[in-house]
Amino acid sequence: MLAIHFSEIILKGKNRRVFENKLIENLKIALKVKKITKKSGRLLCQIEEKKEIVERLKNFPGIDIFYFAEECDLDLERVKRRVIKFLEKEEFEKFKVETHRANKEFPKTSVEINKIIGEAISKELNKKVDLKNPDLVVRIDVLEDEILISKKVYKGIGGLPVSTGGRVVCLLSGGIDSPVAAWAMMKRGCKVIFVHFFNSTFATLHSLKKVERIVKKLSEVQLNSKLYLVPFENIQREIIKNIPAKYRTIIYRRSMLRIASLIAEKEKAKALVTGDSLGQVASQTLENLYCIYSASKFPALSPLIGFNKKEIIDLAKKIGTYEISILPYPDCCSLLVSKHPETKGDPEKIISLEKKIENLEALEDKAFKLAKVKEFSLS
Ligand code: ATP
Ligand code: MG
Repeated sequence: MLAIHFSEIILKGKNRRVFENKLIENLKIALKVKKITKKSGRLLCQIEEKKEIVERLKNFPGIDIFYFAEECDLDLERVKRRVIKFLEKEEFEKFKVETHRANKEFPKTSVEINKIIGEAISKELNKKVDLKNPDLVVRIDVLEDEILISKKVYKGIGGLPVSTGGRVVCLLSGGIDSPVAAWAMMKRGCKVIFVHFFNSTFATLHSLKKVERIVKKLSEVQLNSKLYLVPFENIQREIIKNIPAKYRTIIYRRSMLRIASLIAEKEKAKALVTGDSLGQVASQTLENLYCIYSASKFPALSPLIGFNKKEIIDLAKKIGTYEISILPYPDCCSLLVSKHPETKGDPEKIISLEKKIENLEALEDKAFKLAKVKEFSLS
């Protein structure tokens, strides 16, 4: 029996049920099961412990902790026997028993249960109690109509179930940062729609596979995803023709945000998301971000803005996107830009430069209309 504890959902007052039901709905898809029951503040599901399932749940928004448990009647004598049998083949020396009593009617307190079960393990299996530094923690959950016994508790990422927090459009490059930014939004309950801009002169269908692999990986967290692949070469050609090299990145990125805004409108999303981190590269000074974000019709959210590169890399490794992100890829944002880009972009100057490209808006509209949409779901 798999037992799952909700994370912050508990705090959501009257809306609590909505959050719980969404988590159940998401879990049914992720675990490919038909039945998940709610009992004593836990979600219970009949499923075998497998590495793949553990990995998926460890990165599943809305889960505080989870464990695989043996079920037993509300009878401590039986629990004792089951625990001994359950631990017979385990290798450990020092242990601790931790009881959680959701059923307040149960005649023994948590402390009493710890003592009874602990003594049995010491005596029958000849092991030592160690409350500070145990090799193994036996967890006993006393529910309304049964007792659960488990020996390993896994930690989830917390957060809120995907699709309880609205929709956002994430600008996904081939790099390390933007997949982590998308994941952070999923963790807070958003459904993320992806958009990637590519220059077909450099990016082949094969190199786009890398971006698709990132989206596929992140679909393990949000179950299914949509990716817009937007051809950017015509816009880049005009920018390169008309704009001095030192301003090009800012204008590339403003154009990307305008096109992403069109996608957000179509998708009924409420914000754009980028992988920016303050000061990490020249385009990410506060002045430049001001210039770039002011081209967006929607709030531009950057969940990694205060993170160091090392922290972002550690997260990327944890969520499994790092290995894909470091594969070589022709990044169109760095196409024909200056070695010494502008770091103090001035919005008025940028807007007047943009005016030199006569048909920019029409080109952006065309790129939006030419975008290819791909859908991904959990395998
Ligand atoms: P990343 O690792 O996410 O690529 P970065 O540190 O390399 O970030 P930039 O290349 O300046 O920084 O990009 C900043 C942000 O702009 C990215 O995080 C992403 O949100 C967006 N972006 C850049 N290039 C593209 C692209 N080709 N398609 C979609 N979004 C992009
Ligand atoms: Mg990049």
